[in-house]
Amino acid sequence: MFKLIRFILYISIILPFASLNNNAIYALESQTKFEKFVKLNLDLINASVGSFQVTCDDHPGLATDILSLGKKLGVEVASGQPLLPGKDATYEAFRGRIGKIIFKERPMTPEVFCQLITHEFIHVLQHLNGDLKAVIPIGLQSSKSTFKQYTSLQEQEAYLNQNRPKAVLVLLLRALEYQKLNQNTNQ
Ligand SMILES: [Zn+2]
Repeated sequence: MFKLIRFILYISIILPFASLNNNAIYALESQTKFEKFVKLNLDLINASVGSFQVTCDDHPGLATDILSLGKKLGVEVASGQPLLPGKDATYEAFRGRIGKIIFKERPMTPEVFCQLITHEFIHVLQHLNGDLKAVIPIGLQSSKSTFKQYTSLQEQEAYLNQNRPKAVLVLLLRALEYQKLNQNTNQ
């Protein structure tokens, strides 16, 4: 069913993201400031891989919680034409500021919508992880097999974890704290 749904991360301005080897990005930043901040949560989430997980099938309504947290983080969410043709949603990562999600309005079940929102918000977390200058995988592990080829490590992380809204919600809550902390230190 999800084969019909294509998500993609739309990176504007951020260069040379597309041409850079993702492993190189990862190696350069073995542990980012954001990763250090969420480490305990991430460790707990990763430790629960394979065991009980709250999924979009269990609680599709978690999408609403993710969206309201996203609003607090400053993520703009709009329905309309995603920035890449043929995609159901895109996240546009602006340089130096939080980005914008555009999703296509088409009939979909709450479970599918939940996965779509969870997927895009994993990119928001990746963007925060890259200090809003890059989009770097946050280190979410998955019990799903990775034999499928993804266009990037960022997409791989988002696809394999898009049915984990609770985990993403926990990380977004931490992200909000992180953002407030950084705003205070920047003042
Ligand atoms: Zn994506």
